[in-house]
Amino acid sequence: MKQHYKLVILGGGTGGISTASRILSKKKDLKDDVLIIEPYDYHYFQPAWPLVGSGDEKLDSTRKPMKKVIPKGARWLKSSVKHIDPVKREVTADDTVISYDFLIVALGIELNYDAIKGAKEAIGKNGVCTNYLYDFVEYTYESLKNTKSGNIIVTKPQSKIKGGVSAENSLFTMDDFVKQHDRNVDIIFRSGREELFEVKKYNDSLISQMEEKHIDYKLNEELIEVRGEQKQAVFKNTHTGDTHTLPFETLVITPLMHGPSVLKSSGLLDEEGWVDVDKHTMMHKQYTTVFSLGDSSSLPTVKMGAAVRKQLPVLVDNLIERMNDQEPSHKYDGRTACPIATEYGELILAEFGYDRVPTETTFLNQADDKKIFYQFKKNMLPIMYWYALLNGKS
Ligand SMILES: Cc1cc2nc3c(=O)[nH]c(=O)nc-3n(C[C@H](O)[C@H](O)[C@H](O)COP(=O)(O)OP(=O)(O)OC[C@H]3O[C@@H](n4cnc5c(N)ncnc54)[C@H](O)[C@@H]3O)c2cc1C
Repeated sequence: MKQHYKLVILGGGTGGISTASRILSKKKDLKDDVLIIEPYDYHYFQPAWPLVGSGDEKLDSTRKPMKKVIPKGARWLKSSVKHIDPVKREVTADDTVISYDFLIVALGIELNYDAIKGAKEAIGKNGVCTNYLYDFVEYTYESLKNTKSGNIIVTKPQSKIKGGVSAENSLFTMDDFVKQHDRNVDIIFRSGREELFEVKKYNDSLISQMEEKHIDYKLNEELIEVRGEQKQAVFKNTHTGDTHTLPFETLVITPLMHGPSVLKSSGLLDEEGWVDVDKHTMMHKQYTTVFSLGDSSSLPTVKMGAAVRKQLPVLVDNLIERMNDQEPSHKYDGRTACPIATEYGELILAEFGYDRVPTETTFLNQADDKKIFYQFKKNMLPIMYWYALLNGKS
């Protein structure tokens, strides 16, 4: 294997594969000069996991072998990145040192179940669920089916997360399930955040949904401990510091998350631990040979595959300009999209940019839940993901 590549891409997830595909289709001379470093054998379509957790999608449709999504013309090093030296332009992956001319960091976000006492050991039994781990997503639906009475609690942390509204998706579809099956179950939502949603129009819609469905929701309540055997969840009020305990039959955890810890000593991260790029050009603020997109970047938008889709053409055009010794001139405006299922078959489609003003792409009011949006998410999005986005088409 070569020890030097014109372009090295860290991470073979949504951002890594889509940028590799796009740049190879635009710059043919990069053939065999693009290296993707990714340790896992599978690539996952994570947005479908909440649907799997509510029984409306099959788990095995959400992954494909990594070798099937690596684009032609790119090489794959099946290793974990251990260290980066952006001054020497070197990446250490396991025992291999690779040098590069340009680098794209697309390492995603890290899940931190350890921040919740007892959570890691509890997941997968006693009704303790999460839709963020492939191996446990099916257990969410199993636990839902088994919950005939008591509480279903869905949690969301204060920290930045990927799939920003996955908790609400589970919450509303579980509520629908319980009502359809006429079960004596209380649906409870606890979020460590100050508000339900950061765009007023959709925030108002979500408040109406919560109230119409009689969901017991509280903000500023962070999950801090899970007692699996006792089926108890402990919450801490982020303002007062008071703690209280709630019993559950099913608990669906969205864990706290943070940026890539492997980059901690690289000089590439900002104070909050994200890859420190300009929010419009996606070029690193200090190292002009480094770009980043997606969940590991500091781009101040909601971390979604839909955001990667909008970042992709801007990053690739800017990178090509840099490869030609020009200043990057293309600008990302923070566009992202958050699909929120309000029941099986109905969905709100929130779309907005950095200014948190709705930028809806249909002529419909997207804060109203609609069947067509749900069908789009369930049936169209996977096709667009596997056959367009991963092939570099935005
Ligand atoms: C439950 C859930 C629901 C979601 N719902 C939606 C939705 O409805 N709509 C939407 O648009 N998005 C949704 N998302 C978010 C979406 O999946 C992510 O925002 C998107 O995948 C981000 O792409 P990325 O390339 O930044 O990260 P990822 O796709 O996560 O890829 C990161 C890659 O880096 C690799 N990696 C990590 N560490 C290393 C290392 N040390 N060395 C080498 N490689 C490494 C990982 O193995 C992974 O393949 C959801 C996500 C989840 C989990």
